[in-house]
Amino acid sequence: MTPAGDPNLSLRSDVTVELVKSSASDADVLFAARVSTLGEQSLEELQKDPERSKGLINYLMRDRHGSPFEHNSMTFFISAPIFVFREFMRHRVGWSYNEESGRYRELQPVFYTPDRTRKLVQQGRPGKYVFVEGTSGQHATVSRVLEESYQQAYAAYQKLLAEGVAREVARSVLPVGLFSSMYATCNARSLMHFLGLRTQHELAKVPSFPQREIEMVGERMEAEWAKLMPLTYAAFNANGRVAP
Ligand SMILES: Cc1cc2nc3c(=O)[nH]c(=O)nc-3n(C[C@H](O)[C@H](O)[C@H](O)COP(=O)(O)OP(=O)(O)OC[C@H]3O[C@@H](n4cnc5c(N)ncnc54)[C@H](O)[C@@H]3O)c2cc1C
Repeated sequence: MTPAGDPNLSLRSDVTVELVKSSASDADVLFAARVSTLGEQSLEELQKDPERSKGLINYLMRDRHGSPFEHNSMTFFISAPIFVFREFMRHRVGWSYNEESGRYRELQPVFYTPDRTRKLVQQGRPGKYVFVEGTSGQHATVSRVLEESYQQAYAAYQKLLAEGVAREVARSVLPVGLFSSMYATCNARSLMHFLGLRTQHELAKVPSFPQREIEMVGERMEAEWAKLMPLTYAAFNANGRVAP
């Protein structure tokens, strides 16, 4: 969507998650786990008995033998608002990040605005919040106020750049609704820990209450991971979505 005003400013309500590189399969888990009892094994050997493989992965997940789930890698390209990345980068263990620079390149005017599906109103007390639908009026106000604010902030950024001010200084005027992009690399164990905290799911033994926008990123990563490691994914769900 392109609002009136700066014709280059665009508003987005979605996030992008692209799996750009991976080396991740259920066989990687079996391979790592079986070294403890059987030593080195061929891939054919590992895949000979699918029921046993499924059982072993489930046992590892249930009893929280976590390290066999680390011998794999997934790299995602993610575009999301800066406030999502602020939360994302709190996940320190088993994650590597590289984010676009606001020092070396001019930041593009792409900003976040919630769509009609985004619950707007927070009720309750800290630790016990619920989010409920906003009214049409609230949605209209949010869209208008965000757009006005983004227009003003980006115009200020451009003004400072035009005055010859360095990008790293000029960016101070930009809000956390600005889109950024990054590569994030993880393994199945670190992803499961992330998903346990950043998604809400009926199978979760320990409920979490993530911000919707980081959950949207989590859901997209989860969909990619489920295709790569279906047995591990099923065991994660069957054991209450607690990272081993
Ligand atoms: C719903 C929700 C609300 C949140 N609200 C806030 C908030 O208001 N303010 C805020 O600051 N953060 C907040 N956070 C962030 C939260 O506190 C964690 O920083 C974030 O979820 C990452 O979790 P983690 O530390 O387990 O992950 P990682 O950093 O990936 O760590 C993984 C695991 O490694 C171990 N570990 C890592 N580092 C250490 C260490 N230094 N010492 C000992 N063990 C370690 C722990 O077992 C940890 O669980 C929130 C998170 C969620 C999900």
